[in-house]
Amino acid sequence: MAVLTPEQEASVRTQFAPGGQSADAKPKVTEGKVELPPTLSVKELAEYLDVKTVDIIKELMKNGVMANINQQIDFDTAYLVAGSFGITATPMAMDSAIAEEVVGEGEATQVKLMTRSELFSVDGESPENLKTRPPVVAVMGHVDHGKTSLLDAIRETKVAVGEAGGITQSIGAYVVEENGRRIVFLDTPGHEAFTAMRARGAQVTDVAVLVVAADDGVMPQTIEAISHVKAAQVPIVVAINKIDKEGANPDRVKQGLSEQGLIPEDWGGQTVMVPVSAKQKTGISELLEMILLVADLQDLKANPAKLAAGTVIDAHLEKGRGAVATVLVQSGTLHIGDNLVVGHIFGKVRALLDDRGRKMKDAGPATPAVVTGLPDVPTAGDIFQVVSSEKVARTIAGQRAEQYRVATLAQTRRVTLADLSAQVGKGAVKDLNLVLKADSNGSVEALKGSLLKIQDPQVQIKIVFEGVGPVTESDILLAAVSNALVIAFNVKPDALGQKAAEREKVDIRSYDVVYNVTNDIERAIKGLYEPTFVQIWEGRAEVLTPIKIPKLGIIAGSRVQEGKITSGSTAKLLRDNKPIHEGQITGLKRFKDDVKEVVAGLECGIRIDGYQDFQEGDVIESYQVKQA
Ligand code: GDP
Repeated sequence: MAVLTPEQEASVRTQFAPGGQSADAKPKVTEGKVELPPTLSVKELAEYLDVKTVDIIKELMKNGVMANINQQIDFDTAYLVAGSFGITATPMAMDSAIAEEVVGEGEATQVKLMTRSELFSVDGESPENLKTRPPVVAVMGHVDHGKTSLLDAIRETKVAVGEAGGITQSIGAYVVEENGRRIVFLDTPGHEAFTAMRARGAQVTDVAVLVVAADDGVMPQTIEAISHVKAAQVPIVVAINKIDKEGANPDRVKQGLSEQGLIPEDWGGQTVMVPVSAKQKTGISELLEMILLVADLQDLKANPAKLAAGTVIDAHLEKGRGAVATVLVQSGTLHIGDNLVVGHIFGKVRALLDDRGRKMKDAGPATPAVVTGLPDVPTAGDIFQVVSSEKVARTIAGQRAEQYRVATLAQTRRVTLADLSAQVGKGAVKDLNLVLKADSNGSVEALKGSLLKIQDPQVQIKIVFEGVGPVTESDILLAAVSNALVIAFNVKPDALGQKAAEREKVDIRSYDVVYNVTNDIERAIKGLYEPTFVQIWEGRAEVLTPIKIPKLGIIAGSRVQEGKITSGSTAKLLRDNKPIHEGQITGLKRFKDDVKEVVAGLECGIRIDGYQDFQEGDVIESYQVKQA
């Protein structure tokens, strides 16, 4: 355990003391496992483990601890006790325990544990404190059905050109007005972002707009989006897009959606469907009116008079500004100078900006706001909350950092990529722990996605921590205690981080290409790691169609999506994300001409040595092999 001052320790103990939670609210033991908070009373532990309090006391006595039922014990002790009942205790996920401050009598300040839904619930609020709040909308649907175009069309139609501030860079959400009422749009479209946030426990969306192209109909990702939205119990408004197109057939879309259980209103069902054209900007007002109508049925309310709480939508590091986080206030009002806690980060709100880059003094419920002043970059999907003093903020943050450490203390040995192979050979490594640091949440997600796809019968990849920003001392300490490698993607260690890495002998691997990360790790896991050759990734192309060329055979008619493809480099052909062939690029054509390279955005024909059986949707990754 970290050393706390007696004052901090007392404060932590009162903060995490039971605060009127009923026994029923406690998660029960499932399959011999239970999640426990960092400190709890003997009585609470009995409730968590579903055993008699007296049996807990007996067990503690056996271990030389004399305790009464109200005695507070720490996680480590609780872990041992749980173990004696055959139950494995794990620390409660950092954010599943949200603290709400309750100011007690006199000097005593208590903080009780709450779940996210309790934090944002308006149950129990007196009705006069509740004000109607704008709905928060996410846009989903199949690729190319026009999600981005629709978000752009709404923004362009509803934000007057030339308005003070104008449209600035996207902050992850924007606000529009329809008939004098506000609607908040999250502008990262797609159910992946929605689901990633939900996986972290965040629930910010009130209405989902499902975009279906009228010329294409219901497609696989349409169905996927529907199931994610249904699982989240969020109402759907369908935007039947591209009605301007020849071949547009709204009835076919309605038919397809009916088969998925979304019956249009004009067919006697419940689902609102609005024909729109993102291209011609028609149907936009009708869509917004329908969103408001559906939102009204939910009676969305919040109390603006409370200390603010909400969710981080996006965050990154910026030169000169430090950590910049877009948050969505979901309850209460956020002010400049507020003491903010997000996960294990705390700080004072230095400045607040709205979605058009204008300064704000405060931000009420359902307002997206750019916050600066945090010392570190939080993660999208994290809950933030405001507490009354810096001391409370520091203690909660400290307690959560401690939980991180407890969670990873079990592992002890250190590992480097170079000796991993040897250890794998001896069967010594079972888990490969990684700490991921990258330049943006997007990179973190991409990296994580690719790494977790690596399958190996002997070694399992575990990501013990992921975050945005430079590799800091705390990352290194975490890596040291959890025997993890640090992957630094487009970021460097800061000075203290570098020193700590040398001192703790933690291996920091720096990369700027996802492929190289996965490739290195994959090879290491397979016991093949051999650092003398490096593969330098060049680019990626998607195969649009196979093209038959007399004498040459079949080449891949493709579009370069990222980087560039060069003649002579090595190509890896992937189908459904699985490599199916590797060979040299022996020909590259633009129209009829042979070319040396083709850059992102352009179409080309790619000939790969020893392969002709291309299919639409195949991916060609190209890279050069160089000696390190
Ligand atoms: P996303 O992948 O769902 O975000 O789709 P995009 O917004 O990138 O749109 C895919 C393609 O469809 C682009 O070429 C758009 O120009 C086009 N598109 C989007 N909306 C419309 C529309 O209402 N009418 C027509 N004709 N084309 C559209």
